[in-house]
Amino acid sequence: MDYEQFFAERIADLRREGRYRVFADLERQAGAFPTAKNYRDGTVQDVTVWCSNDYLGMGQHKVVLDAMCEAVRRCGAGAGGTRNISGTNHYHVLLEEELATWNRKEAALLFNSGYVANQTTLMTLGNQIPGLHIFSDALNHNSMIEGIRQGKATRHIFKHNDVRDLDRLMTSVDPEAPKLVAFESVYSMDGDIAPLAQICDVAEKHGAMTYCDEVHACGMYGTAGSGVCERDGVLDRITIVQGTLAKAVGVVGGYIAASRALTDFIRSFGPGFIFSSALPPAIAAGALASIRFLKEHNEIRERHQERAATLKRRLTAAGIPLLPSVCHIVPVMVGDAVLCKQASDDLLRSYNIYVQPINYPTVPKGSERLRITPTPLHDDAMMDRLLVAITEVWSQLGLQKAA
Ligand SMILES: *Cc1c(COP(=O)(O)O)cnc(C)c1O
Repeated sequence: MDYEQFFAERIADLRREGRYRVFADLERQAGAFPTAKNYRDGTVQDVTVWCSNDYLGMGQHKVVLDAMCEAVRRCGAGAGGTRNISGTNHYHVLLEEELATWNRKEAALLFNSGYVANQTTLMTLGNQIPGLHIFSDALNHNSMIEGIRQGKATRHIFKHNDVRDLDRLMTSVDPEAPKLVAFESVYSMDGDIAPLAQICDVAEKHGAMTYCDEVHACGMYGTAGSGVCERDGVLDRITIVQGTLAKAVGVVGGYIAASRALTDFIRSFGPGFIFSSALPPAIAAGALASIRFLKEHNEIRERHQERAATLKRRLTAAGIPLLPSVCHIVPVMVGDAVLCKQASDDLLRSYNIYVQPINYPTVPKGSERLRITPTPLHDDAMMDRLLVAITEVWSQLGLQKAA
């Protein structure tokens, strides 16, 4: 086999379909969020970032940076091992305690990413619980899909956010069989939110555990900010809450929060937890400082929601087609991979506005979009410039306007 040719041809296919991924080369500017330097075509430009998952700007917040710098000076750079072999630093212990309290669970467990948290936890449950059936929302994130696939559980996929379909599928399975329902709270590509209480009703009716990915909600919803499960008053009905420290928390890493026995079980049997070196202590210190800050500052969440609502209202008034998001994410529909990339390129080159195009396989073909994420730090002047830029790009490219 000509290996090089094989790789080159697959890449050429992607280019033909207009979905070859080009990374924007950025240098984030601590203290100047949401602006960044953008290295392109041999030049450096100041751009406004409108698609970051650092949803609240905590990745540059002084309390987080101070905590990380102090931890580096006290403990050094790396953790020095897996959690079992010399890698458990006191900051990890404090952070796990904080995550448990935040999510009103007995215990929590850290992973090196939200991806690994989902993949390892679901795979381990599937491999270790004999005869487990996992019911998975059709739009679940790849990390959950992979975790479920890699385990031995029988997989059932229910229609997105459809509790009747879930109930129908669960009814078809042996009532005595162990079951788990896996879903997200906020679906970040469409901006919709799961009917958590109704999912819990169905799960409880069938004696199933519940697994909720709060990656796009933790830090941002609920008075203490732990997520939509808190906001909707269902935390005590969720068996396993999963989240990330890399989005609104602003650092990196993932977690689950659950009962002491379940957490201890994943700690003891989960390969992606056991066989990977622990997060650097400074990462845990930064995430800890971030969560403690977020718990106490609900006004940052109120401002975040106001910014998102304002942007949605203004884009709608300008005739720009949006998906009906009920959260902080603003999905602007283009519906064509090549045009979506072109719109993104034009915004960057002509207006120094950075919004990454979202193409297949992240979203279905024909639903390509610009996914805009306003933060509390995007001010009115930035929003004015975004509105002008999008309106001009829409008419230059002849893109679809809202009906
Ligand atoms: C980003 C994401 C993850 C993975 O979290 P990381 O910490 O970035 O690895 C998991 N679930 C969902 C829904 C995500 O969007």
